[in-house]
Amino acid sequence: MPPVTFIPNDPLAVNGPPQRSVSPGTFPAGAKFNVIPIAKPGSYMPHTPEFDYWQALCALIAGMRTWAAVDGKALAKWQGNRANLPVQTNAGDDLNAFYDRNGLQFFSHTFNGSTVHASESVDVVTHEEGHAILDAIRPDFWSAPFIEIGAQHEAFGDCVALLTALSDKLITDKVVAATPDLSGKHFVESLAEELGDAIRREFGPDSVEAGALRHALNTFRWVDPTTLPPSATADKLAGEVHSFARVFVGAFYDTIRNIYATGPKTSANLQAAAQRSGSLLAAAMRTVPAAPRIFEGVGKRMVQAEATLNKGKYVAQIQAAFAAHGMTISAPAASLAVPLERRTRGDGTKELRARLGVASGAKIEVTPVDSDMHDDFAHVTAFRSLSLTGVLPGVEIPVPVTARVTRRGTSITGVVGDIVGASANVDSEARAFVQTLVSNGDVRVNATAARRIALTAPQVTARRTATHEVRTVGGKPTLVRVGFA
Ligand SMILES: [Zn+2]
Repeated sequence: MPPVTFIPNDPLAVNGPPQRSVSPGTFPAGAKFNVIPIAKPGSYMPHTPEFDYWQALCALIAGMRTWAAVDGKALAKWQGNRANLPVQTNAGDDLNAFYDRNGLQFFSHTFNGSTVHASESVDVVTHEEGHAILDAIRPDFWSAPFIEIGAQHEAFGDCVALLTALSDKLITDKVVAATPDLSGKHFVESLAEELGDAIRREFGPDSVEAGALRHALNTFRWVDPTTLPPSATADKLAGEVHSFARVFVGAFYDTIRNIYATGPKTSANLQAAAQRSGSLLAAAMRTVPAAPRIFEGVGKRMVQAEATLNKGKYVAQIQAAFAAHGMTISAPAASLAVPLERRTRGDGTKELRARLGVASGAKIEVTPVDSDMHDDFAHVTAFRSLSLTGVLPGVEIPVPVTARVTRRGTSITGVVGDIVGASANVDSEARAFVQTLVSNGDVRVNATAARRIALTAPQVTARRTATHEVRTVGGKPTLVRVGFA
């Protein structure tokens, strides 16, 4: 195949490798993307559909290869057991990108004569790809109405962007040349520079960090996100999921930096540190419970994975990285499974429902864990309804009750650790999340639901990429997730 033109990392990456001719390569076996509109290979100018096709495709291939390398195997299927996910390189006017379960959409926007295509930034493309990967391995996060789980999804997208960049030797050469001890800013920890620049030009300097949409090199420290305002200037943390995600992204990038610091200041060592950190993140994302305090939960499981898979060599480096962002990660401890009593016949779901405190007919969603650390292990989720009185009057939201279980075949044999979700604390977490969504224009109301309720208009007009929608479910106006931006 003839080579195609490719901009590594981001069109506004400062001191990054220049645009180059590449052979596009192929997706690993398994889950793939169908990018549209399709184009013949060749050299094209940016902002053309042909350029955007090859640019997005090369970024998506690099992302999937990086994920396969850190996870130890290629992703088999997308959420819903699909083999192909459509990708639109230019889905209309916006400064954003979106993942829903039907595909990825990248938008373009012109302001003051300057045009930005989100599909031309590898940072943006691999961030959205990260949402799709995480939804494939953890579909149970989709409906978990907690700020920190939404932020974990956003953080994971940025981590996939970082890992993809650091898997490219021409990129790590430039990073190590720019800041040999990784103490300084550079074009890789600067995420989505061009999109950040466009937002800054149109909406002012308080709306975005200096030099990028987000920086992985940051000093943000964890606080209870339900105590944060829904939005804030970019230099401060808010409950908005992209803003709060920066705490975890900072801790993950510092994990890479700390592991790198134990070796030589070379491009190869940086690639190895990223690969090690990425493999720990992959293991942790598969095993962590879908609980409100998920950042600390992921940190704990990264430490546990390091202890189990790598003899604990870098446990101190991970703990120091999270401590620098206000999170204390305790030494690894394995939870033992408490067996079900099995006084009833069947597959164990009846007794599990009783343990979860949900109705005997409640649907239970099972997310199997595919991990070297656990055999026959799964996350289970059941839902109860929470009325959003005072936040979205007349609307309900399903609140998950989750547990981790051991299985033999398809039968549930025991419960591992705590059951999460049957408490007033979880209700207040859900309410805080919905308040943040409403305040940020992330809730739209579909026409059918709007006729059924005397809904006070959300305080902010819903944006095109609103992540949630009020729709009628089982006859009741219900807030459901439609995607991630
Ligand atoms: Zn996102």
